[in-house]
Amino acid sequence: MNIKYDLENNVMQIDDIDLYPENLDTNFIGICNSCNSDVISLSYHDHDNGMVVAGKCTECDLLYAIFYDNLWNWQGEEPIVQFFDIDNSNSIKFLDSIDRKKLETIFTPAETTAMYAKARGEKYVRQYLYRARKKYNDFYELFGIQINI
Ligand SMILES: [Zn+2]
Repeated sequence: MNIKYDLENNVMQIDDIDLYPENLDTNFIGICNSCNSDVISLSYHDHDNGMVVAGKCTECDLLYAIFYDNLWNWQGEEPIVQFFDIDNSNSIKFLDSIDRKKLETIFTPAETTAMYAKARGEKYVRQYLYRARKKYNDFYELFGIQINI
């Protein structure tokens, strides 16, 4: 199981599926395996006919994904060690959803590379992104797809 968490937006991603929080209740939910301190919930998510709760150790800041069935029986837990940014993730999904040929019609490869890099939160050549941005209106007029990256 591949678990990632966006601490800013409280979104959990399990095997590439985004789980938005059902609520952000703060409850005591267990004891940290690492330092025996309290683990407090950050967010609750529907998952697989049950719930998964993101919890954070109050002492060492370790994060856990704790799984329950629909009767709140404990099913297991995993440490969360990978983090992501849902905004970047959505930008990438959005770009990937656009037919590559459409992108190539309007944007040069350098511009496309800059758009992807920006969407991933990586370094990009500003000049190319600026050029690409000037073409977003053209792209919208041609294909009816509004890019905002
Ligand atoms: Zn701890």
